[in-house]
Amino acid sequence: MLGDSADRFAHVVDTFERVRKLYGFRRIEVPVFEATAVFARSLGESTDVVAKEMYSFEDRGGDSLTLRPEFTAGIARAYITEGWQQYAPLKVATHGPLFRYERPQKGRYRQFHQIDAEIIGAAEPLADVELLCFADQLLKELGINDGVTLTLNTLGDAQSRDAWRAALVAHFEGHRDALSEDSVDRLARNPLRILDSKDPRDKAVVDAAPGIDAYLSDEAAAFFDKVTSGLDAAGVAWERNARLVRGLDYYRHTAFEFVTDRLGAQGTVLGGGRYDGLIENMGGPVTPAVGWAAGIERLGMLLDHIQSDALDVAFIPMGEAAEKVAVRILSELRRSGLVCEMGYRGNIKKRMQRANDARAKFAVIIGDDELAEDVAIVRNLQTGVQTKQPIEHLGQIPFSLLDGMSLGRAVDATGSIVDLLTGDQAPQ
Ligand code: ATP
Ligand code: MG
Repeated sequence: MLGDSADRFAHVVDTFERVRKLYGFRRIEVPVFEATAVFARSLGESTDVVAKEMYSFEDRGGDSLTLRPEFTAGIARAYITEGWQQYAPLKVATHGPLFRYERPQKGRYRQFHQIDAEIIGAAEPLADVELLCFADQLLKELGINDGVTLTLNTLGDAQSRDAWRAALVAHFEGHRDALSEDSVDRLARNPLRILDSKDPRDKAVVDAAPGIDAYLSDEAAAFFDKVTSGLDAAGVAWERNARLVRGLDYYRHTAFEFVTDRLGAQGTVLGGGRYDGLIENMGGPVTPAVGWAAGIERLGMLLDHIQSDALDVAFIPMGEAAEKVAVRILSELRRSGLVCEMGYRGNIKKRMQRANDARAKFAVIIGDDELAEDVAIVRNLQTGVQTKQPIEHLGQIPFSLLDGMSLGRAVDATGSIVDLLTGDQAPQ
């Protein structure tokens, strides 16, 4: 990634880093690879990711390792092995590369990147609400909430889920002939997965499938109610999708996706849910948890035009003596926080062109004539106004003083503006 795609990527990550602090999520780093069992067991053997998409390999010691296809399982593993229980409830955030063996196409890569947020050790629906508010604010601050809808479901507790599963099996058995081969296969191994099928042949049968509501236990219904009323209180818009399930097996209670119609087939921009059983299944203590993840590249594609980094001052010295002076002023200005650039070579015309292309605010031009006078030409590239400034303290003056400056004026050592002809102090 270079240029626009890299700028989009960085903007997503920067915004995520800023917003996660507003919500008190701590930054964590987890390994890029784990023992294969960490993913194979927790994601579910019959999910697409585990069955078809994992990059697994044997290392020199004969152990099976896998490049992480998602974050949650590795974070759950770290929670157990690193003793993070002492910090529960723990709010954490991370981002980085993930790997899936998929058919590469626009917006779908074999190495892609996600941002990820998790709350571990909280059974309260308030945790679901906080996590969803975080996601909602992030999408708004990225400016991509337009046309993006939060769709929400509950998968209930174990009892609700089992009852719903039985009803789904009965429904799909009744329409077996209309299902795709993959879904017939899922019917035997993991019937809920059929709801997540992207095969158009399954659509009609999936649309007619029973939703979970009739099978929800009172506790599960009350939990979901607290989540949705929390979202209402926070002013986060949501829509119910009673057939929403997620691509991995570990979800319980809340499941959600922020979906858009702006990306064609790849409609989900951010997804997640509650995974209360996962850490216990992995051999840890009973630990309720909830989390979400979003693809950085896919979020980046939804951004409007984004500005590349601004340049304050482009230095254009002509000749070695001028270059030496420029290097000094350049470092002084950079230390004071201005964004400055100086090319290594090229004639004045090329260098001016480059300064304009980079949308620099000022160009500082120093040639032999200027050196002889101990001045530099400072050209405001937005207004075209050009002034001569004493070289001596050019590295210390606030450049903002030069913003609206007219011809024949300069800034002196004290930061005052002087008339070059008379030497008197002058208003801008
Ligand atoms: P899909 O249905 O598009 O295959 P998924 O259900 O496999 O998505 P998740 O596992 O929920 O995706 O991952 C969450 C997000 O990660 C997706 O919404 C998407 O933005 C991103 N993502 C997943 N796979 C890829 C990929 N191969 N390339 C780029 N981004 C991806
Ligand atoms: Mg996928």
